[in-house]
Amino acid sequence: MSSSEFEIIRRFFANHEIGKHISRTDVVLGIGDDAALLTPPTGQSLVVTSDTLVSGVHFPENTSPELIGYKSLAVNLSDLASMGAEPAWFTLSISLQDASDDWLDQFAQGLFSLAREHNIQLVGGDTTHGPLSITIQAMGFVPEGEALTRSGAKLEDAVYVTGNIGDAAAGLKIKQDQLSASEVVAGELVERLEKPSPRVAVGLALRGLASAVIDISDGLSADLEHILTASNVGADISVDDVPLSDALQSLAIDDARQLAVSGGDDYELCFTAPAENQIKIQEKLKALGCRCTRIGTIVSGSGVLRWFDATGNELNWSPTGYEHFSET
Ligand code: ADP
Ligand code: MG
Repeated sequence: MSSSEFEIIRRFFANHEIGKHISRTDVVLGIGDDAALLTPPTGQSLVVTSDTLVSGVHFPENTSPELIGYKSLAVNLSDLASMGAEPAWFTLSISLQDASDDWLDQFAQGLFSLAREHNIQLVGGDTTHGPLSITIQAMGFVPEGEALTRSGAKLEDAVYVTGNIGDAAAGLKIKQDQLSASEVVAGELVERLEKPSPRVAVGLALRGLASAVIDISDGLSADLEHILTASNVGADISVDDVPLSDALQSLAIDDARQLAVSGGDDYELCFTAPAENQIKIQEKLKALGCRCTRIGTIVSGSGVLRWFDATGNELNWSPTGYEHFSET
């Protein structure tokens, strides 16, 4: 390891001014040895997830380093949330092309400010030279047998989403100059794209209440289909019940709802639950300040997702419709 790499690890990762305040008792040995030593609590399953962000693929090359740092961790926290896991540790493998101290400082700032919010500690990683790419592996815990998977949806379960859907997709269109909005609205929508809030507390609250959970990264339609396939069921969804933010609704677009269901990157949760849990779920999520909306019902038919309008007519949306839409 060259001294400059050593210096990067020390200054910006091992000894970062925010990062060093995240110090968990279950970390026996963190950054600095050949590997980390960690002690998971007894009776809990270790939940492990990993996501890579590549410059030019997952974010434009000129994206602010603070946002790259934030989002690299946020997408992993969202995966922990969707499993009902409590975040604990993460590793960071970063490939850098002549990164300046200023770049690294801002990257670490974005990364550790979110890490601190969720008490998740950086325990190791790898630093190499090459095209900019960031891989984070996040780990967390869930009591044995209580993880929220994609495969537990049952006939007649209700289907819900958290928050509002479609803001991130609209934010992307605004950034790409394909959609115009007032400065305030544009700011709100782009913020939802660039700084998604992973629904960690909601994931924890849904333990024992939800039957299946997924986080919405590829779009409501595509991600709900993953639940349906894994659970071997279908769903009837009311498109008019998909919750849209005031910001999205204020835009003069006819197809805001189609944008909402086909667009990705919202990092809200989509979940199913038996009808009798509805009141408890609404109460718990309300206490967390999280909007929770029922959008439909689980029916028979493996993997079949049907959309209906307010008058009960089935919509004839084809997958090519979504693709066409996402390209415009
Ligand atoms: P080795 O050569 O034994 O693989 P490294 O020189 O790659 O060790 O790393 C030294 C220490 O620094 C290890 O504890 C490793 O986990 C940690 N480390 C390296 N890069 C990072 C990083 N980007 N973030 C956090 N820890 C890192
Ligand atoms: Mg190494």
